[in-house]
Amino acid sequence: MPELPEVETTRRGIQNQLTGARISAIVVRNPALRWPVAPDLDAILRGQRILDVGRRAKYLLIECEQGTLIIHLGMSGSLRFVTADTPIEKHDHIDLLLDNGHILRYRDPRRFGAVLWQYGPVLLHPLLTKLGPEPLSDAFDGSVLFDATRKRGSAIKLTIMDNHVVVGVGNIYANEALFHAGIAPTRSARSLTAEECGRLAAEIRTVLTRAIAAGGSTLRDFVDAIGKPGYFQQSYFVYGRSEQACLRCGSVIRQIRQGQRSSFFCPHCQPC
Ligand code: ZN
Repeated sequence: MPELPEVETTRRGIQNQLTGARISAIVVRNPALRWPVAPDLDAILRGQRILDVGRRAKYLLIECEQGTLIIHLGMSGSLRFVTADTPIEKHDHIDLLLDNGHILRYRDPRRFGAVLWQYGPVLLHPLLTKLGPEPLSDAFDGSVLFDATRKRGSAIKLTIMDNHVVVGVGNIYANEALFHAGIAPTRSARSLTAEECGRLAAEIRTVLTRAIAAGGSTLRDFVDAIGKPGYFQQSYFVYGRSEQACLRCGSVIRQIRQGQRSSFFCPHCQPC
């Protein structure tokens, strides 16, 4: 599943070619995404200039003159630039054609993604109104996390993956941030001290920032029509390292299930 760093890298990869261009057409070959693509989307978008490409959580926001095209990559979606003679493959559901000659192609084999239109201020869209703060913004820090966790008896890992608390902290990055902060994923959220919340918030920022930086090297893929943006080649301290030695202390990394997702942690570096 594309996580926040992949979405942010996608945003940076498409921003320059999209901003300032005018939309010539949108071709929808298969509207059956997570929600049906509006049948009048081509009529709405045609002729509109793109003002900027933003992001909120894992939603890409293509800001146009009359509103915003919201794109979510779902479980398996990707965007890339293609040329007019690039063969259309099975899961290439949507093309956005621009007057500067670029074609942005949306591919989504599992079709859990979304392409939605919102007139007016995009943050009023029902999918966006209840989202918590952006982890890389000034709106998120240790004191925000401390306040948000006071009444939560659920495990801290599930709490930081809750979009109402902070957006965009997926499974990989939750595991890694908790390891670097020295906090067991099973700890009750409200048991964290202010100091621990400060450490955890800082580590969330660090792991996401590092992943985005790793994604920078894949940016070229978005414009040369060759790349398949996916998970960046990164090494993790605990994620996916069940039964292997902790890179910090040598203890055996343990794997458990929390909320239907795998948690990985070092029992020595992250005491319960
Ligand atoms: Zn360890």
